[in-house]
Amino acid sequence: MKFWFITGSQLMYGEETLRQVEKDSREIVAGLKLPFPVEYKLTAKTNAEIAQTVKAANYDDECAGIITFCHTFSPSKMWINGFSLLQKPWLHFHTQYNESIPNEAIDMDYMNLHQSAHGDREHGFIGARMRMPRAVVAGYWKDPAVQAKIADWQRAAVGSLFSKDLKIVRFGDNMREVAVTEGDKVEAQIQLGWQVNTWAVGDLVKEMDKVTEAEIDSLVKEYESLYEIATDNMESVRYQAKEEIAIERILVRVGAKAFSNTFEDLYGMKQLPGLASQHLMSKGYGFGAEGDWKTAGMTAIVKAMYPDGAASFMEDYTYDYKHELILGSHMLEVCPTIAAEKPRIEVHHLGIGGKDAPARLVFEGRAGDAKAISLIDAGGRLRLIVQDVTCEKPFQTMPNLPVARTMWKPQPSFLTGLECWIIAGGAHHTVLSYDITDDVIRDFARIMGIELVTINAQTTTVSLERDLMLGDIIYRR
Ligand code: MN
Repeated sequence: MKFWFITGSQLMYGEETLRQVEKDSREIVAGLKLPFPVEYKLTAKTNAEIAQTVKAANYDDECAGIITFCHTFSPSKMWINGFSLLQKPWLHFHTQYNESIPNEAIDMDYMNLHQSAHGDREHGFIGARMRMPRAVVAGYWKDPAVQAKIADWQRAAVGSLFSKDLKIVRFGDNMREVAVTEGDKVEAQIQLGWQVNTWAVGDLVKEMDKVTEAEIDSLVKEYESLYEIATDNMESVRYQAKEEIAIERILVRVGAKAFSNTFEDLYGMKQLPGLASQHLMSKGYGFGAEGDWKTAGMTAIVKAMYPDGAASFMEDYTYDYKHELILGSHMLEVCPTIAAEKPRIEVHHLGIGGKDAPARLVFEGRAGDAKAISLIDAGGRLRLIVQDVTCEKPFQTMPNLPVARTMWKPQPSFLTGLECWIIAGGAHHTVLSYDITDDVIRDFARIMGIELVTINAQTTTVSLERDLMLGDIIYRR
């Protein structure tokens, strides 16, 4: 993935100025230290050049977005035709080659060359006039804080491209009678590009039958290198390895980066995949339990934005009012990237589903600021709900709860945070991410054109209800 840098100018200034504009632009591009590379593409001087470049960007699968900057004045009517065609994320970088105004060197030639304060306003106008979804970052290009903002947008842009190509495999349907894990898969494909389709559990079982003992040996060795083995029941661990190998084979064959399953449909399987799903998540696959393909998809997207980050499928389970904490966990499937310690592989009976005792990773989640992310189908549209939370080390050991777990406090305060989540319709399943920032989420929602509801330190139930009413007007389809 790379980003194209396009400098706006025009023919009026003459060749010498345009050469300087290109030289400076190349220097700016070379000075950007970002998670994804940026390539200087051209100094655009005509309508045709811009339209051609936008067309090329649209059809280049490696181009994740365009960054524009007007070193000089670039009349915006010549950008209209190109911008009308733009299908890639756009960031308007409102920067300037020089940090300061040189007292002696400034003359009218200097003014004509270094006039982004002027040219970028013309450029900003056409973005606003055309109501283009765009990120705007202002500041000196060498400033690390300014570059960090571009980095955030890059992650959102990469996440949006990943989304538009995302395939999600559903093994079995949703858990019976559950509402929030349902959703309009056609709408999700129109809005987010997700291809959500079902694969027979029976075919997964057939795939499991093909897994060899040697393949299981090899994966169990990997488990041993990553996790502490805290069970004598290696048969259960080996069974999970078999499930993992078979699930991943189907995902690779389909080209899918996320999957869901349900304990209500494990026909022909002896265990609910626990360790298997956990280890697959740690490798970057999205996962959703009980048929929750929406959380599976969002987990995969967050992991694609932060390949080395900490993110997991999560579920709000139970409260401690005295400590003002939510205990988050799941029956089994929490990703070890959020672990505070080396996870242990344990085998315990599972009271739900009527299957054999599954091997699972047991650990405590780490402390730190995080976000709980829920994508819901609000009826005719998708709503992305994001709440700031603070994860804490669990205050007690809970020795009889052998699952991965974490505790967190929601913003703006415990009870108001709970009220806001319920008012917004947030699911009991979330993606818990320790990395994603407000800007990344906002950029992502803007690029995808979906409703975003944020719950943070500034939120009140009154402001939230107003946001939801506005969303009903803006996003109703
Ligand atoms: Mn659940």
